[in-house]
Amino acid sequence: MIATLLVGMLCVYLLSFTVMFLLIGRRLQGGKMGTDAFAVGNLLLGSAYVLQLLEGPPGWSAMSVANHALTLCALLAYGVGGARFFGRPLPLAVPLMALGLGYALVQVAVQWAWGTEARYALLSAVCALCFAVMVAVLLVGLRTFARDLRGEVLLFVVLIGGIGVLNVMKLAKLLSGGLPALSMDSQFQTIFYVYMCSLATIIPPAIVWLVLRRLTDALRGMAAHDPLTGLLNRRGLTEALDARFARRAGGARLLLVDVDHFKHVNDRYGHQAGDAALHAIADVLRGTVRAGDLVCRMGGEEFAAVCMDADDATALQVAERIRTRIADTALLHAPGGEAVHCTVTVGVSEAFCDDASLARAMQTADAALYRGKPAGRNRVERAASDVEALSPAV
Ligand code: GH3
Ligand code: MG
Ligand code: MG
Repeated sequence: MIATLLVGMLCVYLLSFTVMFLLIGRRLQGGKMGTDAFAVGNLLLGSAYVLQLLEGPPGWSAMSVANHALTLCALLAYGVGGARFFGRPLPLAVPLMALGLGYALVQVAVQWAWGTEARYALLSAVCALCFAVMVAVLLVGLRTFARDLRGEVLLFVVLIGGIGVLNVMKLAKLLSGGLPALSMDSQFQTIFYVYMCSLATIIPPAIVWLVLRRLTDALRGMAAHDPLTGLLNRRGLTEALDARFARRAGGARLLLVDVDHFKHVNDRYGHQAGDAALHAIADVLRGTVRAGDLVCRMGGEEFAAVCMDADDATALQVAERIRTRIADTALLHAPGGEAVHCTVTVGVSEAFCDDASLARAMQTADAALYRGKPAGRNRVERAASDVEALSPAV
């Protein structure tokens, strides 16, 4: 009686979260993060339990065959949902139909050859195997695709591992005690469905949390990056510096990089070509700074690089490399095939070692930069006002 009640509750949970996942998926539009497949999984498992309530004691019936096929298809849908959440767009509809049909035929064959008990034992064995595969994939994910979700993935490993163990126990009971082991009055079935109810209560909100985490991470990433070039924006630079300075103390230097006469590029080739040139400059910057340094688009045609743990000479070397590489790079080709080149003027700040002194570094690098403009552009200027320009205009 208790187990039957629990199955009823399971139906309600699963079908309610079908609707919830569908609503979340609709809201997410482009990247549904697997919520559509999770909705299908819940619908299939919920329907399987409805059939179980309708069919009564275990036996040979079309309803029972459909129940088992739906249960297995639900596991496939959850697996596909998980893969989609981690960015692997696996198909769902065709594999589901193939599995449903294939497993129905397998059941008929097993029923014909070995009887009802074997058919129920087969379901427990296949479910246990599926859960073992899920646990193995998640454990691999802890070191690879799900490194950022360790706590959450471990929770899933424990929960899924538990239901896998219960399926192995069910298989053992079926093999030793036959169909009476599946009686809804048995203590084992009560434990089994209490556990299933707990899973149905914990897993869907846990999935909603994962989606929420991914969304907030994406929003944070968007707020910290420039959409045109993909570089950090000013806010992202401040946050990244906070993190770097919290980990280690060392002198950093700010390089402010302003494109020379960029207005001419827009005027001559159009704004779209100007955007492409900015993108190309960002790529050169990314490829020129040292590993661990930061690159940012401050706004417009002004960029910044922060050389971490850099002395004066190193920062000036990096600045000079940036200047020459940008000058040497064909940023784009105009419609007539003409290669478009730009130069930059770079202002290098004094050393700074926390974000409180970042504002001062910005000021001194900016002052150096704007000394370099009237001095001829295409040059590197360091913050100290008494130092001569390092690269004469070409
Ligand atoms: P200077 O050597 O003195 O720096 O000359 P400049 O022309 O680069 O400087 P100015 O500040 O007069 O002009 C900057 C230009 O950069 C003007 C603006 O149209 C262009 N610009 C700023 N942001 C963008 C952008 O996102 N895309 C494109 N295509 N152009 C931009
Ligand atoms: Mg400029
Ligand atoms: Mg400018």
